Amino acid sequence: MKRIFSQFDSDLNNKEHLIYDRTNKIAEIIYRFEPYRKLFWQSLKKRIPLGELIRARFPFLFPNPCKPIYTTVEFTNICNLICVYCSSHLGFRPQGMMSSETFSKFLQNVRELDVNRVHIVGNGEPTLHPELSFFVQKLSQSVKYVDVVTNGQWSNESIPYALINAAVDRIDISVDAGGMNNYEKSRRGACFDKLIFNLRKLQEIKRELKASTLINIRLMLRPSQKYKERKLIAYWSQFGDIVMRSPLVHLDQIDYDEDIYRVLQEEIQAYPKCIQVFNNISVMWNGDVSMCDFLLYRKGPSAMILGNIHKDSIKELFNCPMMIQYRNGHKKRNLEKIPFCKGCIGD
Ligand code: SF4
Repeated sequence: MKRIFSQFDSDLNNKEHLIYDRTNKIAEIIYRFEPYRKLFWQSLKKRIPLGELIRARFPFLFPNPCKPIYTTVEFTNICNLICVYCSSHLGFRPQGMMSSETFSKFLQNVRELDVNRVHIVGNGEPTLHPELSFFVQKLSQSVKYVDVVTNGQWSNESIPYALINAAVDRIDISVDAGGMNNYEKSRRGACFDKLIFNLRKLQEIKRELKASTLINIRLMLRPSQKYKERKLIAYWSQFGDIVMRSPLVHLDQIDYDEDIYRVLQEEIQAYPKCIQVFNNISVMWNGDVSMCDFLLYRKGPSAMILGNIHKDSIKELFNCPMMIQYRNGHKKRNLEKIPFCKGCIGD
């Protein structure tokens, strides 16, 4: 079987990079077996159908779907940090917060679509939204599984309380391995001590409220840390229920190249076999719906906005000619049909 990581590659500046193959799904499952196992059981307990969990990983084995497996929502693309490998602060898109009207439209769409999962993420920090508590409560009441990605740099307890009280199923907290120095160097504006304090507090609140929310530490890893990954996982395990290894990858739109993985498909300008257009559709803070999050920030093709939920339904947009073209193109490996995917890191 092909491996998920391959040998160092030397570029023109004689920098060495470890190559990461993001589209090798079986190798990825093996690499993240323990956290995936826990997430799998949690999803089944939350009544996510088994067929849907398999389809999410291997959509090519099934007929094309007419609704997404999950919907991603961006409460805001404003962030309280500046991370060296993130595009949030680079101003590729106008910044703002989702209005109550846009959220109501989104909620209405999610209910009509009868989607099981909503993923709260985007190009900013969702917990900065002043309506966080209300929004997550409404979503939790409307779908079987809600998860949220945060940097955990909250300045007060009301945020973890809001998330746990709303019975969010999973909280993903993104951290950098390598101790305080590396963490604060990678995330301008972040404080390592605050992170640790907040992680302990979150566990305390979870125990106090007897919540079943899963705390997932998303551990961002650099090639130089490869030899000590097990030690790092052991350290971060004290702060969460699972630790998910996430190799930090080079993205063509961000000029950052220090100690970072190169993705095979970007290196050789391949067309990755990608599951994104089968599984997901994303709604931005202003209601715009994109074909794929990756296209919003890539160099070259302009952002692929399919429509806006104030005018179109998510179901219509998921089944629009462009989405069908890209699904068929990926499934049949008809590369002429997926021009924007060339050199993308894929999903
Ligand atoms: S642009 Fe990238 S992430 Fe989007 S569908 Fe194409 S390969 Fe997948």
